[in-house]
Formats: sequence, C-alpha cells, structure tokens
Amino acid sequence: MKAIFQSKRTLRSILTRVKEKVTGVVYQVNCSCASTYIGKIGRTPEVRLKEHQRAVKTGKSSNRIAVYVEKTGHMICWDSTKILEREPIWSKRRYKEAINIKNHFKHEFRSRHLNKLCLEHIN
Ligand SMILES: [Zn+2]
Repeated sequence: MKAIFQSKRTLRSILTRVKEKVTGVVYQVNCSCASTYIGKIGRTPEVRLKEHQRAVKTGKSSNRIAVYVEKTGHMICWDSTKILEREPIWSKRRYKEAINIKNHFKHEFRSRHLNKLCLEHIN
C-alpha cells in the first residue's frame, strides 16, 4: 500500500534518501573558497553533517571545520557535500579516507585542502 503513495517521488529524492540511510562513508565537504575537507563516519553522513553544522554555530574547538570557519570566516557549502566511498568496516574506512585525501590533493591542484589548512590553523 505504502508504495502507491510513494510512486511520485523523483529520482533525485530517492537517491538523496538512499544516501542518507548509508552508514560508514568517506565524505567530502566543500568551502566557498574551493578548499575541501575529507572525513569519515561510521554513522550516516546526514548525522555527521548536522554535528559539523552545530559545531560551526557554537565554535566548537574540537571540530576541524568549526575551527576553520572561525579562523577564516568562510562559508561552507553544505549542500555540495559528496559521498566518496561507502565502507562499513572501520579499518578499511580509515584507509580509504587517507587514500582519498592523498588522491584529492594530488589531482586537484587548484583546490586547497581544508584538512591541512585546519591543521595549520590549530598548530
Ligand atoms: Zn574556505
């Protein structure tokens, strides 16, 4: 019965819903200045994004994106967040996060790396 009422859903909304339900991902958050942050999460990316957004609002010093925003005053483009990998196993996820950070930095020369910028700001 339920399916009948859900049939008018667009492909986009279906894809978005699927994405929200995924747990265990490596994700990429973009800043308006083209810097990027690559992180990993065992829960859904939606939950993690909300945590990041809350941290930015409250200026939480343990959150790298929050620290970055506080130091630079830049705007994070939350809507353009991408899922790079789906990996339910923690150790593999950690590895894939590192690989993605490395590859991103290697291939996107114009894009600055928020992970690194954050570290520079913190240190
Ligand atoms: Zn920025």
